[in-house]
Amino acid sequence: MIIGRFAPSPTGILHLGNLRTALASWLSARSKGGRWIIRMEDVDGPRCRREFGEQQLKDLAAMGMESDSPVIWQSDRGDAYREAIHTLHGLNRLYPCHCTRKDLQKLSSAPHEEDGLRPYPNLCRHRPWEGLEAALRFRLTDGAMDWADLALGPQYDDPSTLTGDPLLFRRDGMFAYHLAVVVDDGFQGVTEIVRGMDLRGVTATQIQLQEALSVPRPAYAHLGLVTAPDGCRLGKRAGALGLEALRQRGIGTDEIIGWLGRSLGCIDHIEPCTINELTQHFQWSKVPIGKVALPESWS
Ligand code: GLU
Repeated sequence: MIIGRFAPSPTGILHLGNLRTALASWLSARSKGGRWIIRMEDVDGPRCRREFGEQQLKDLAAMGMESDSPVIWQSDRGDAYREAIHTLHGLNRLYPCHCTRKDLQKLSSAPHEEDGLRPYPNLCRHRPWEGLEAALRFRLTDGAMDWADLALGPQYDDPSTLTGDPLLFRRDGMFAYHLAVVVDDGFQGVTEIVRGMDLRGVTATQIQLQEALSVPRPAYAHLGLVTAPDGCRLGKRAGALGLEALRQRGIGTDEIIGWLGRSLGCIDHIEPCTINELTQHFQWSKVPIGKVALPESWS
C-alpha cells in the first residue's frame, strides 16, 4: 500500500510552491490507489504557530486534500524522538557538539548549491558522551548513498560533503528536523516522500539515519521550486501567493488547481478543474524537472 505524505512546517501560509508539492504528493498517492496523510512539522520552536498550521489545513481542504489519518503535530512526539536518541546512542552514532552558530559561521566555506547548505566539518566527533545536556550530532558513515528519485531519476550523493554530521538534538532541549522527519515517516509507514528541490541535498543524510534506526526507505521525489515570473526566488513575494490572497484578487481555487495541474504535466492547457479530475492524468514521467515560473498576472 502506498502511503504518501505532505509535511509542512507551520511557519506561515502555504504559497503556490508548497501547494504544488502538496498536490503532487496527493496525486502520486491517489493515482496508485494509495493513502495520503498530512503531518505538521512544528519542531522549529518559536517560528511555528498552531494558527498557521490550522490555516494550512483549511487551505489544503479547500483544494480537496484532507489527511486520511488524524494529523500528527511533531511538538506532541517528544517521547518518540527521545527513544530514537537512546537507540542511536546505543549504536554509538551520537556525539556531543559544542560548536556555536558563530563558530560555524567563522569557518568560511562556499555555500553549497543554491540552497546554501554548508557541511558541518565534524569538529566535535572526538568528544565523549555527556548525556542530554549538550547538543547531539549523528555520526555519518563514509561513502555515497544512492536512491531512485521518482521525479529526477537515479541520484547519488555523499552526505558528508552536503550536510556533514547533522544535528539531531539541540542544547535547548528541542529535537531537530532530521530526527523528527525520519522517526515520523517510519512511525507513519510513509512509502513516498514528495518535497521541494531545496531538500534534495539532505536526502542522503536522512537515508543514513533511516538505516541506523532500521526504518524502511521510502521512495523520494524532489520537485523544482516555483519562482517569480522572471525566474528569481519568490522570497517575500511568496506571502502574497497563498490561496486566500489569490482568491481576493479574483483567482479562484479551481483556476489555481488548473495552473498547478498543468505545471505537473497532467493537462496541456490551463483550465479550471478539481484535483480529482487530475488524478488519472498524473504520471511522474510527465512532471517537468526544473523550476516553474509563475504567470505574470499572478505575481
Ligand atoms: N517540513 C519541511 C518543510 O516544510 C519538509 C520536510 C520534508 O518534506 O521532508 O520544509
